[in-house]
Amino acid sequence: MPGNGPFVPGELVLLLDPDGRRFLVRLGEQDSLHHHRGAVRHADVIGQTEGTLVRSSQGRLFAALRPRLIDYTLDMPRRSGIVYPKDAAHLIAWADIAPGQRVLESGVGSGGLTLALLRAVGERGQVIGYEARADFIDLALSNVHAFGNEQSGNLLVRERDIYAGLVDTDLDRIVLDLPEPWRVLPHVPAKLRPGGWVAAYTPSIVQASQFVEALRASRRYVQVETHEVLLRGWHIQDQAVRPEQQMVGHTGFVSVGRLICEPAEPGSRVRQP
Ligand code: SAH
Repeated sequence: MPGNGPFVPGELVLLLDPDGRRFLVRLGEQDSLHHHRGAVRHADVIGQTEGTLVRSSQGRLFAALRPRLIDYTLDMPRRSGIVYPKDAAHLIAWADIAPGQRVLESGVGSGGLTLALLRAVGERGQVIGYEARADFIDLALSNVHAFGNEQSGNLLVRERDIYAGLVDTDLDRIVLDLPEPWRVLPHVPAKLRPGGWVAAYTPSIVQASQFVEALRASRRYVQVETHEVLLRGWHIQDQAVRPEQQMVGHTGFVSVGRLICEPAEPGSRVRQP
């Protein structure tokens, strides 16, 4: 990830126009952002510090900043649905994904969740992705590298069908975003360390239900929960203080459970109060 120094050629920069609209550009010495409020020359951004205001050819001021990870994720090329930032953040909190962990993720898709996981596990951690389709692997790796992530070395992607089994062991967490996450569960106890979490992101509540019932039926998981995250922005301007009129109505459900060493008593509801 780029540091805190001056902007350099080749770096991704977020330009905010006078109305606050976002434009993600990759700095090239000869390039410009062509905007109806005038052209912004990248050469005027290169060498400046973050937060600088640059003037367009029409004299309008644009702010130059490094993009947040979510500015990038929402803008990058994708061919699958991605896990939205609100759901990725929630999954990271509830599956307790933290620096230094070894996290297995499947499928990798466009790499949206992969980027969030790489950041969460930090430079000492590792993300191992299983993805069935080679074209998605290429896209995800290109998206991860294009963010300029110095942690992309901590990512290992295998072209594999995860339903057929796991070849990696000593995993701290397993994160699933694929159609039938319950089909992975038979392989989990041998590869996930006890106390480790498994999480599934599913667009449909029927999938969430089938996953949770499979966790319960095995009696190997506790602290089993399913959540839906509703994010509502607020419009705040003078006396007009109200919720935004538009919301993303639905993305998906996050289900989590935690592996224990042996099956709990039949019918036991060992769980967090
Ligand atoms: N979380 C990703 C999106 C994943 S889309 C993101 O944020 O960008 C689901 C992916 O799962 C697809 O790429 C699909 O090819 C992959 N997939 C489906 N079944 C699979 C399986 N059995 N093993 C591995 N990958 C699988």
